[in-house]
Amino acid sequence: MTDGFTSPADRPASEARAERLRDEIRYHAQRYYALDAPEISDAAYDALVRELEAIEAAWPELVTTDSPTQRVGAPPSTQFAPVQHARRMYSLDNAMDLGELDAWLERVERETAGRPCAYACELKIDGSSIALTYEDGMLVRAATRGDGTTGEDVTINARTIKSVPLRLLVPPIGHVEVRGEVYMPKESFARLNAEQDEAGQPVFANPRNAAAGAVRQKDPAVTASRDLSAFMYQLADARALGIESQHAALMWLGEAGFRVNPDIKTCATSTDVHAFCEWALEVRNTLPYEIDGVVIKIDSFALHDELGFTAKAPRWAVAFKFPPEERTTILREIRVQVGRTGALTPVAEFDPVLVAGSTIARATLHNEDEIRRKGVLLGDTIVVRKAGDVIPEVVGPVERLRDGSEREWRMPAECPSCGGAVWREEDEVVPRCTNAGCPAQRLERLGHWASRGALDIDGMGSEIVSRLVEGGLLHDVADYYSLTFEQLVGVDLGRVKKDGTPQVLGETVAAKLLKSIDASRTRPLAKVLFGLGIRHVGSTVAEALAAAYGSLDDLLAASEEDLARVEQVGPKIAESVRAFADNPENVAIVRRLQTAGVSTAEERRAPERPQTLAGTTWVLTGGLERFTRDEAGSALKALGAKVAGSVSKKTSFVVAGSDAGSKLDRALELGVPVLTEADLIAVLDTGDLVSPGNAGDTPSGAAS
Ligand code: AMP
Ligand code: ZN
Repeated sequence: MTDGFTSPADRPASEARAERLRDEIRYHAQRYYALDAPEISDAAYDALVRELEAIEAAWPELVTTDSPTQRVGAPPSTQFAPVQHARRMYSLDNAMDLGELDAWLERVERETAGRPCAYACELKIDGSSIALTYEDGMLVRAATRGDGTTGEDVTINARTIKSVPLRLLVPPIGHVEVRGEVYMPKESFARLNAEQDEAGQPVFANPRNAAAGAVRQKDPAVTASRDLSAFMYQLADARALGIESQHAALMWLGEAGFRVNPDIKTCATSTDVHAFCEWALEVRNTLPYEIDGVVIKIDSFALHDELGFTAKAPRWAVAFKFPPEERTTILREIRVQVGRTGALTPVAEFDPVLVAGSTIARATLHNEDEIRRKGVLLGDTIVVRKAGDVIPEVVGPVERLRDGSEREWRMPAECPSCGGAVWREEDEVVPRCTNAGCPAQRLERLGHWASRGALDIDGMGSEIVSRLVEGGLLHDVADYYSLTFEQLVGVDLGRVKKDGTPQVLGETVAAKLLKSIDASRTRPLAKVLFGLGIRHVGSTVAEALAAAYGSLDDLLAASEEDLARVEQVGPKIAESVRAFADNPENVAIVRRLQTAGVSTAEERRAPERPQTLAGTTWVLTGGLERFTRDEAGSALKALGAKVAGSVSKKTSFVVAGSDAGSKLDRALELGVPVLTEADLIAVLDTGDLVSPGNAGDTPSGAAS
């Protein structure tokens, strides 16, 4: 991969090569960090950096101050306010195999000669780093790493992440900065990419990019819908809290209310470190989130001070990187799949290979542009992997292995299912079959209605659905509700039993199916909306629409302008909903669903407010103007707060009205924050302890 350039012999050639590498690395760093749209694999990117590092090590005078090796990543984009990191957010040096890890361990043992040296081993979470700042126990800022010196202020987005505490569980202690990793669970990543695909949007290459993208959304509601989580693993200034080791820092973080990864181990010897790395490699595929290695840190902070930092990374830590799980196989066929909205998706079919714990034989190629971009030909030897350890993905061809027999693939001009015309809209990457009666589309629509994310008709798998369609029992989704026991029993399942007779649907299964169908009559409106398969209406949009209109009738009567005003609904979605409602066939199906007793209106319940004040204890004292103390207490409790009668060290806040007496004195004595009635109203209105607008206004009392 290094073009035989590992031992640069002559200086001019090395200099030219270094120049080229720097340009290349800068370009890819920008794609990766600023655009969240990498073009090459992490392994390939690392290889470029390492080659440059090798040249710079051999010719130190060639190192330029602007060399990508001298800093972390690329500049942040300008969309968010810049945040100057009080302490630099460093990257980590990598050990690409156990040999390099040993070399690092030996160096450390040498440099710390004579002193016992324990290692804190942690999983390297593959997400996006974040720095959280707390003032007197309250979250006041969240920032991305950016280039290590300057990051971006993403506070409003970070506040939507449930595992980011808005208030610390330890007594207020002035200024604290903690650092960690925001990530997207594998399952949520898979779901998000499915939705992106469905909406004709580009998919994310891996959960890391998806997480980084979600953290840097302009609209915090989008971040909130992306199901992010976070593990914290560092205190920017642990010594200030009297904490002297990494394991003590992790304990403190756990007690303060942060999520700390449970799979941590303090190892005394390099043998133990090895064992932990091997264990991590083994469990890697079973974890619900992606890890790309193990981080080994010297446990003692006193030793950190001694070892210090290089220009870009600490000398007291190293990242043992897992080898990328990529395999090669032969691309046999590209088959076109017809989706429920008619979208034609090319799917690669290749010789089965074992990757990241399971055998894969197919992977979506998304669209024709993607195939061109990847440059794969039928018959190619291809590299495959799993994006985020879950979604099979074709990385690209191994061009050197071509023998001339490979052929280019083209999207067929007709629908492979019905032979209908294929149409590609100008601003879309996917072509669609335009035949409304297309059997493949119908099958997909029916299957979608019954699927778990929609009406969840238990037992109604795609196999049975296609048999019912073939048997003429199902044409559209309303037909589910007129199926009878007699019709279901005896349906040919298209398989033969051991004795050679055809397998048919039995009475038990038929009864079970009818029960599941009946249960689906009372699903929430959002599920029904999603189930209808309106273009661009994924589960998140369906929830927004259901919440805004409360009934299918109101929704279908709404104008395009009205629809577009709903949060998360743009003009494109509004147009699509309107087009659905204007089609008499669709309206007929909706009416039949209603006649069949499928619920199409939300039962209006007062929405329960998020329990944002959970874990806090409040004391009210003095007279309030806007409400009685009881009313204020109930309002606080509705947000999860506890309300107590007397002030103690455990009290989180005291609200002091007019003529507050001894309770106020006691609060000031103990350093408990004191709020005014106006502060209280702000908290009750926003449900938040510090609302973004008046972050500076909340008095923090005498606490420090
Ligand atoms: P890299 O981006 O490859 O240089 O790796 C460094 C990054 O790994 C850090 O900036 C963190 O965002 C991330 N990371 C994930 N898990 C950990 C961990 N347990 N300790 C330190 N860094 C971690
Ligand atoms: Zn078709």
